Amino acid sequence: MLGSSTFRHGVHPPETKHLTETVPVRRMPFPDEIVLPLRQHAGRPARLLVKVGDHVERGDKVAEADGFVSVPIHASATGTVKDICLWPHPDGSMAESVVIAVEKFSPQIPRPRIVPQWEGLSPQQVVEEVQKAGVVGLGGAAFPTHVKLLPPADVPVHTLIVNGAECEPYLTTDHRTMVEYPERVQFGIRIMMKALGVDRAVIGVEKNKPDAIARLRETLPDDLDVSVLPLTVKYPQGAEKMLIQVVTGHEVPSGKLPMNVGVVVQNVGSIACIGEIFDTGYPLIERVVTVTGPGVRKPSNLLVPVGTRLRDVLEFCGGLTDDATQIVFGGPMMGAAQPDLDTPLIKGTTGVVVLTKKEARSVERYPCIHCGRCLEACPVFLNPSLLGTQAQAGRYEEMEAANLMDCMLCGCCSYVCPSHIPLSQMFALGKNMLRKRQAAA
Ligand code: SF4
Ligand code: SF4
Repeated sequence: MLGSSTFRHGVHPPETKHLTETVPVRRMPFPDEIVLPLRQHAGRPARLLVKVGDHVERGDKVAEADGFVSVPIHASATGTVKDICLWPHPDGSMAESVVIAVEKFSPQIPRPRIVPQWEGLSPQQVVEEVQKAGVVGLGGAAFPTHVKLLPPADVPVHTLIVNGAECEPYLTTDHRTMVEYPERVQFGIRIMMKALGVDRAVIGVEKNKPDAIARLRETLPDDLDVSVLPLTVKYPQGAEKMLIQVVTGHEVPSGKLPMNVGVVVQNVGSIACIGEIFDTGYPLIERVVTVTGPGVRKPSNLLVPVGTRLRDVLEFCGGLTDDATQIVFGGPMMGAAQPDLDTPLIKGTTGVVVLTKKEARSVERYPCIHCGRCLEACPVFLNPSLLGTQAQAGRYEEMEAANLMDCMLCGCCSYVCPSHIPLSQMFALGKNMLRKRQAAA
């Protein structure tokens, strides 16, 4: 069933994982204030359930899922709703958010919830429990997890692929999850295999995490077909299409989904989260986050309440160094720069990377010299140079014809471009414009 050992093209940025790869996960103390945007996932934002002045216990719902492709938001700390207002969002916009003043002397024990007995549940009921707990893809995309658990009846799925590649430089969130909570990962896999009705699961882990590979192999179940596949270290090995190609040998056709080749891919953090829900009954109210980079004094792996503000996280990690110049949520390849320290870390925040002038990308930009490096780097064989020219001229229909929608926004083209053209940013904008035009039409 296995495909090739790697995919074609891609890049090899410095891994820079040494700052945190051996640092155990620590629980961060509760901050004074939590900010919960209603839009933390792909799909429709959650619908508000609380008002200013309400008391909420840790784990209470503050917003309800609005339809199937949506999830609820839960209070990540006990306290009082202080405000409901527009607040800086990690995507650069302002988003409606619930601000909770955290109760100082509360023991912060989540409100008891019935632990779902997964063995007696039908696949549909498992899906409902996962949605109720507010689980989304914790690898950054924040797509509601339960949606992937319910493929249409006429699309047979045979394999669950667990994405533990974590190919972004600096980040060690998934690495530490696999090393420290392997039983939880295996439990989550068991539940997902039951929900999907598949009898095979493969955990893909890049070879630069030998301790994670060993821990997962030690805890493999005897009664299920689960295996660990060490992957070549190359960026973007963790992109869904690349991973599927390497694990199964199948290519996901343009415009199709992984389930069209019989596969569902889930991030290892989301799987561990599902394991926790069916173990403790707690919804998604905290997550593991790597806070790292040469611009932060104490690089760490933290268990952070969802909605903790960036300034509180940085302060807990000893603050910024004097030469810190840029803060990025996610890794440096695909992450988004954060100009506001009040921005909260949300469900999809995999890491906080603080760069100094030496590592931050140059803002000086030159014309394209047609060197072709971006073509050699693109893992989905697009022509980024041509797309860049079209983007600059706002010729979005032409970009669509040049297969812009297949672009994964992986950033390989921008990384190799000697002219420092922010290609992937331009493509993100182009994709947005096309979606808006399609929606309007
Ligand atoms: S890498 Fe940059 S300079 Fe070279 S062809 Fe691509 S866009 Fe042009
Ligand atoms: S950002 Fe898009 S165009 Fe650029 S290398 Fe990645 S997939 Fe190719």
